[in-house]
This record gives sequence, C-alpha cells and structure tokens, in this order.
Amino acid sequence: RLYNEVIELKGNIRVFCRCRPLNQAEIANGSSSVVEFDPSQDTELQVVSSDSSKKQFKFDHVFRPEDGQEAVFARTKPIVTSVLDGYNVCIFAYGQTGTGKTFTMEGTPDNRGVNYMTLEELFRVSGERSGAMSYELFVSMMEVYNEKIKDLLGENSNQPIKRLEIKQAAEGTQEVPGLVEARVYNTEEVWELLKSGSRVRTVGATNANELSSRSHCLLRVTVRGTNLINGQKSKSHLWLVDLAGSERVGKIEAEGERLKESQFINKSLSALGDVISALASKSGHIPYRNSKLTHILQSSLGGDCKTVMFVQISPSNADLGETLCSLNFASRVR
Ligand code: ADP
Ligand code: MG
Repeated sequence: RLYNEVIELKGNIRVFCRCRPLNQAEIANGSSSVVEFDPSQDTELQVVSSDSSKKQFKFDHVFRPEDGQEAVFARTKPIVTSVLDGYNVCIFAYGQTGTGKTFTMEGTPDNRGVNYMTLEELFRVSGERSGAMSYELFVSMMEVYNEKIKDLLGENSNQPIKRLEIKQAAEGTQEVPGLVEARVYNTEEVWELLKSGSRVRTVGATNANELSSRSHCLLRVTVRGTNLINGQKSKSHLWLVDLAGSERVGKIEAEGERLKESQFINKSLSALGDVISALASKSGHIPYRNSKLTHILQSSLGGDCKTVMFVQISPSNADLGETLCSLNFASRVR
C-alpha cells in the first residue's frame, strides 16, 4: 500500500527534511536504509516498513545523505537573510538524538553549519548595503531545560548560572530581562562566543551529548537597522534552535529525574507542534503560553514571521519507529 502525506508550504512556514548517511557503526552491524529517494524530484521520500509497505512524505525540500552543508544553507539563506529586511525568523532542527540536529545547526569546525554560515552571510549582506543601511548585530544564547531558561553567555565560569524569566513587554512582545546581548562585528567573534556558550552549557554534565539531547539550545541574533536615507529604525530577531531529542523514552528508563525531563521535553515539543500547526491552519487561538519554548519565541512565530523546520531523520532500519514519529510530527505542521 502507498500512503500519501502531503506537507505543503503554507504561508511563511517551510518544512525541510534532512536524512543523514548511515554511520560506520550501522554499516558495520549490517543496518540497512529504509528511506528511499526519488531521483526525479527533491520534495518527496518514502519510508519502507518491515512488512514492505511504503509510506510517502512530501516536504518543501528533501536533503539526502549525500547533500552537504552548502546545499542545506543554499535553501536556508534567503529566509535567514530576511532578518535584515526587518522580518523575525525562526529556524528549528527537530528529530531523534543522533540524526544530525547539531550537525545541521552548529556543524563541526571543518564542516560549519547553518548558524555560522548565517552570521557570515548577515555580515556580508550588511556590508553590501552599507551605503543605504547601517546594521548592528547582537548575539544571545540560552538553553531551555526542564522549563528553565539559562543564559549561556552570562557567565564567567566560577559564577552561578543565571536563571532567566520571560516578561511581557509593549505591543505583545516578550523580553528576557538580564539576558546578555553581545554586540558582534565579525564571524570569528561569533564562533568564539558559540564555543564559550557550548562550554557553559555542558558545565556539570557528565555526558555532554546526553545533556544536549534533553535540552533546547537557542541562539538569538538581534538585528538593529537604521535606514540611512530616511532615518527609519527597525529591530528584528532571528532564532536558530537546536531542539531536544524527540525520541520517546522507554518506560523502564523513565524514572525520577529522567521521567521529569522527558515529560518537559514532550510538553515543549508538542507545544511547538501545536503552535506551528495552529499557525499553518490559520486558527484563531495560538497556544504560545503552553511552554517556555513557544512563549519566548512568540513574537517570532506567526504573523509575517518566517519559519523553517528541519526534520532530521536517520536512514537506519533500527530507527524506523522514531523516523515515522518525526515525519508524522512534520505532517502536523502543515
Ligand atoms: P543530534 O544533534 O541530532 O543528536 P548530531 O548532530 O550530534 O545529532 O549527529 C550525530 C552524528 O552524526 C555526529 O557525529 C554528526 O557529525 C554525524 N552527522 C549527522 N548528520 C550528518 C550528515 N548529514 N553528514 C555527515 N555526518 C552527519
Ligand atoms: Mg545535538
């Protein structure tokens, strides 16, 4: 049987799917790929279940295992740079732990991701426009873990970690009083900030990867623009979000602290799904207040804001269940 799930471009929300390659361990243990791509187009993929039934999914774009960081950024660039035109923008990486969320957003030192390439592009374009516009760029970085917000730039290593709260401000916007906004002038400076933020993030964690899979990491770029011809000023935000792993936690592991964490993760990821699907269906009430994640992003989600959701998946047969869950989540975001 062939099912059809159509995930269409609705308004300003785009859904991109990215499938990572099989890794060495998977190749070594004989895992096979259950994700099939159609050579004639780049918006659909099929997932083959163990009973050989196929389920088809359609996105705004599908990135295949062989697609590199440049190919991904080429599709993301027009959206992220619209922050320089005064639009608020949110980019999310969603998916099971190990599917490449951090690879897509942060990348690696020799294979840098969306975050770095975005800043590089913002500096390049703002330089190009310097005759007509003057821009100031600021970077903030925070972590949302168990519905608590932590400032990742507000630390010198021996001070206690700052907890932040969201405040309603004028015109329905949200502010985070006390959040560090670091003025940045070039990409190398940003790269250093991101590295120091990542270090703060993992303080006290016994396993960095474990922790990052259970918390959301939010990078916020604030752009203040001045039109040099008419003096008009604007302020806009670009959010680059590496979400907590979407995997369901097994009943056996889920006790005490781990159970609480997984409940908070489920709550915030489903709140995000609810908000985006309410926006896509032009529903009247948008339930922003159901989680810290959606509340903090409120003024950058909806209206004429632009949103990109990367749904990250594994090709491995061992991950079939989680892959279908992630693709089904993406189907809700229509
Ligand atoms: P997540 O953040 O979703 O838990 P990671 O980004 O840490 O996943 O990716 C897990 C591993 O897979 C990392 O070693 C990463 O470098 C590698 N990886 C992920 N996506 C790709 C890709 N598209 N191409 C090559 N390697 C990838
Ligand atoms: Mg990660």
